[in-house]
Amino acid sequence: MTSIDKLIEHTIRADVRNIASYFVPDASGYIKLDAMENPYQLPEGLRAVLGQRLADAALNRYPVASYATLKQKICAGLGVPAGYDVLLGNGSDELISIMATAIARQDRKAVVMAPTPAFVMFARSAQFAGADFVGVPVKPDFSLDLPAMLAAIDEHKPALVFLAYPNNPTGNLFDADDMVAIIRALGETGIAVVDEAYQPFARKSFMGRLPEFSNLVVMRTLSKLGLAGIRLGYLSGDPKLLEQFEKVRPPYNVNVLTQVAAEFALDHLDVLDSQAELLNLERSRLAGELAALPGVEVFPSAANFISMRVPDADKVCSELRDGKVLIKNLGKMDKMLANCIRVTVSTPEENTAFLNALKASL
Ligand SMILES: *Cc1c(COP(=O)(O)O)cnc(C)c1O
Repeated sequence: MTSIDKLIEHTIRADVRNIASYFVPDASGYIKLDAMENPYQLPEGLRAVLGQRLADAALNRYPVASYATLKQKICAGLGVPAGYDVLLGNGSDELISIMATAIARQDRKAVVMAPTPAFVMFARSAQFAGADFVGVPVKPDFSLDLPAMLAAIDEHKPALVFLAYPNNPTGNLFDADDMVAIIRALGETGIAVVDEAYQPFARKSFMGRLPEFSNLVVMRTLSKLGLAGIRLGYLSGDPKLLEQFEKVRPPYNVNVLTQVAAEFALDHLDVLDSQAELLNLERSRLAGELAALPGVEVFPSAANFISMRVPDADKVCSELRDGKVLIKNLGKMDKMLANCIRVTVSTPEENTAFLNALKASL
């Protein structure tokens, strides 16, 4: 063993040493349909104005610590109820990590729970924070198994339950009444986080229901709406709960360039919303054409991606990769997703390129 290996063994946690890094394939030269990005940029005129704003940003200064203007624009433009504030994150990934850190008590193991298959960062953040992750399988149609969820809540007393609405990687919206039953069951012992990363496409939200439940937190991101590059997530919930999470948030976690770009984008939400509308139309077209392909089982989606089962997901993914089309193979994620793939809904041209490549592979 070399001295660096010894150093690592002495210093780095075993569970960190034993896992692989979050894998992001190199996408240069590919049609990139694996990460739910919006394929459209802001229109050229707006980009020129944004360029000037970014050039004027005071890069020599720390961000304004209160983020008051940005928060005010989020609250006013994105349906945050009156009297509720937001917590900002460097992407919602950071917010997930902040919440997991805040609940990971030392005197006994805290539990983070989610219906599975789920967004990978729920379990990862729980692990890194030192909490246990308990996944509760959804039903074969990907709906919530409510009795199983309620039994697991009773058994494990989770401090945090993530419900992605719609769910990633399946794309479906859980039944809202089932979600309410879970929020109520958690009551005073657990926090329910409704992760609305795909709200711009689903157009359904629990944000307006925050005043009904003091243990409800609603989390969103600008990533899927078209600003994945700036990394900005936000969440809202009871002000007293937010105050606790706020203590864990690293100061200045949202940088000046993100702040300027987000404020600008929020002044032009109509542009982003109409891009989302276009993508929703393409989602319908793509889903229809996929459903007509023999051997393809398309799952209903309220998000900007479509998941489906194919006869041989490994073969499809590798042949598409050879054809320079990058999609996500879900097969290794969960046994429920054997032979499943996920594709981001993109421009009509890129969607057609995907369809043609898929047809050729099938
Ligand atoms: C993409 C995604 C996120 C992460 O969003 P960022 O703000 O880019 O970190 C969170 N939750 C779900 C369910 C997602 O699919």
